[in-house]
Amino acid sequence: MYPIHPPAYALEVLSGLEEAGFSAWFVGGCVRDSLLGRTPADWDIATSARPEQTAACFPLLPAVTAGEKHGTEGIVICGRVVEATTYRVDGDYTGHRRPEQVTFTARLEEDLARRDFTINAMAWHPEKGLVDCFGGLEDLSQGRVRCVGEPIRRFEEDALRILRCLRFGAVLGFSVEEETGRAALACRELLGDISGQRIREELTKLLAGPGAVQVIRAYAPIFFSALPELEALSRCAQESPYHCYDCWEHTLHAVDAVPPEPVLRWAALLHDCGKPLVKSFGPDGWAHFWGHARESVRLAKGLMERLRFSNQEAEAVAELIECHGEPLPLPEKRVKRLLARLGEEGLFRLLELMRGDVSAQAPALREKRLALLKEAEDLARDILRRGDCLGLPGLAVKGNDLIGLGYVPGKPLGQALNTLLEEVLSGELQNERPPLLARARRAAERVGREPTNQYVGPRPKLMDRA
Ligand code: ATP
Ligand code: MG
Repeated sequence: MYPIHPPAYALEVLSGLEEAGFSAWFVGGCVRDSLLGRTPADWDIATSARPEQTAACFPLLPAVTAGEKHGTEGIVICGRVVEATTYRVDGDYTGHRRPEQVTFTARLEEDLARRDFTINAMAWHPEKGLVDCFGGLEDLSQGRVRCVGEPIRRFEEDALRILRCLRFGAVLGFSVEEETGRAALACRELLGDISGQRIREELTKLLAGPGAVQVIRAYAPIFFSALPELEALSRCAQESPYHCYDCWEHTLHAVDAVPPEPVLRWAALLHDCGKPLVKSFGPDGWAHFWGHARESVRLAKGLMERLRFSNQEAEAVAELIECHGEPLPLPEKRVKRLLARLGEEGLFRLLELMRGDVSAQAPALREKRLALLKEAEDLARDILRRGDCLGLPGLAVKGNDLIGLGYVPGKPLGQALNTLLEEVLSGELQNERPPLLARARRAAERVGREPTNQYVGPRPKLMDRA
């Protein structure tokens, strides 16, 4: 195990509390991560001081009092927040969620006993060393997540711990101790009491972990309780020359093959969830999944709404799912359209998702398709390097140019510009003023010949192809 080196600002809070006569220890994630040689996200302290006493120890520093009810006082120091939480035992748990009421205690050991897993239930002090009442160090060195106390009871108290357990397994690459794993499976239906937001937060961290897929595979029923939209994948075979796995194994391989970034991992997890709903068999006897991307988007949108994804994240995931089945090869005009639609970051993410998808398909097709995806990526880089027009700001004519041709400001003008853009993206028109203006003039003249007294200028259908 690695030595623990708290940063100076965290040590300052610890000694500030001690100088005022309180006891104080570093606890939880910072001890766990330090011992593993990982950089802790934050340095939490457990202390005998009550929240108001903690604040009084640092009269010159701002305090954040959001968690006061649970005994937590945040001290803002060097631009960071160090949370000091009074030693406590949890009150009654209702609805399988964290307790409303907590009771303060004078004993560190009692505080450690209410913590979820042995690896999270250690305390450390620069002079006094490690306090490890539940075998956390041994579990850390064995790479094991184990509940403090009786697992079933701990999961019944707070069902979020079921997902936290799998999350630590995925992020740290740990196994779940047997009894803890059995209890997590047995209690999985309690996840119904946990808010969508907390489920999303845990699963997002889990999905980004290096051990995500092993954990999801081993504890699939828990995932199906949290995300029922995925369950049918596990019963859906893919009788097709393109595939070597059933839908669920294919999904897991795809998740594993995309970079561990939240939007991409969620998109990979959900990209085929609509397949079981559209499965059919062709005259060739193979299974087909026509329209599965659209169906997957529909299910994924419902799931993401329930899990309170931000609109921006949900939109990014949905767009990737919708486009993941783009036929290969991707011709230049298709790459341009996708760049115009998804933006640079979105297109490269899509290519990553498609690469993950292909890597999870039958080996015979893999190499060829991966090569086609590489070509699409090179094409996209060329297009970006050349600075080709990908949107209205890059179009060689502007609204004023069309007004000069007799177009009226408003919707028809916008439509006309968009039609020009479409034709530039598809390669029908060069992005140069003379051909664009000629095209717009031709369309205006054609409409001019049509009888109308409603529009001074071109009509909305102006640029429809004759
Ligand atoms: P990270 O910050 O990397 O997510 P962490 O272990 O610090 O991991 P936090 O959610 O910050 O996790 O919680 C801090 C500590 O509080 C944990 O290490 C654990 O001791 C305790 N804890 C957190 N949530 C629970 C819970 N639901 N039940 C019991 N103890 C918990
Ligand atoms: Mg933490």
